[in-house]
Amino acid sequence: MRRMMIAGNWKMNTDRSSGTALAAGLASHVAGKNLTADVLVAPPFPYLEAVRETLGSSGIQLGAQNCSSEAEGAYTGEVSVGMLQDVGCQWVILGHSERRHILKETDSFINQKTRLALSKGLGVILCVGELLEEREASQTDEVLDRQMAGGLAEVSAADLSNVIIAYEPVWAIGTGKTATPDMADDAHAHIRGWLAENYDEDAANSMRILYGGSVKPSNAAELLGQPNVDGALVGGASLTVDNFGPIIDAGLSADKS
Ligand code: PEP
Repeated sequence: MRRMMIAGNWKMNTDRSSGTALAAGLASHVAGKNLTADVLVAPPFPYLEAVRETLGSSGIQLGAQNCSSEAEGAYTGEVSVGMLQDVGCQWVILGHSERRHILKETDSFINQKTRLALSKGLGVILCVGELLEEREASQTDEVLDRQMAGGLAEVSAADLSNVIIAYEPVWAIGTGKTATPDMADDAHAHIRGWLAENYDEDAANSMRILYGGSVKPSNAAELLGQPNVDGALVGGASLTVDNFGPIIDAGLSADKS
């Protein structure tokens, strides 16, 4: 069975003091609980190490929001996979819609990073999702197929076990608009179908597919209760313990294993 993951993407928010306070609050929130789901935070690069130290042995995992497509060398301003692992990251979020649409990252560039991260043993949370105009033009499935094929090109079945997919409809990110549970489940089922066709049934059944897009305490349980939804990637609501705490709890209660 698939283990739930509740992941918080802090984006370009927090500073050292508020980020470590948030990490400390989350560590207290989960203390003494049976972590039947993976819980992850992805702070900005400069605070990764301080957050990791604050999380200590809480069981909350650490992820980064991006990585370089190159392993090392003269790439000013870039952060390598090795550096992320060195400061304790187990995961990196790739293909987030803000990087696709604001920073113009292409599927092939995302694929380069994906393959590099996987080759070094860093887990990848690969984000896919359609724009509003694509949904309205009934192109959601086509967009998801293209992003899956592009992002996972030349990723082996063995490496796929270190990948999580996050379905994040772009129109639902940071907008307060959430996909209905049915819409989310349909998209997740489509992604699972793509995996069955392009890998095999095992890969499809074991892949964790997170939903992201205005997840909050009031809608988390219903979304997480959908058969094909294996967790949440949370932006805005991951920035306070008051909001992220109940979403973590919904993930622990939705344990389907
Ligand atoms: C995200 O950025 O991945 C996200 C889902 O943001 P929000 O929860 O704020 O919509």
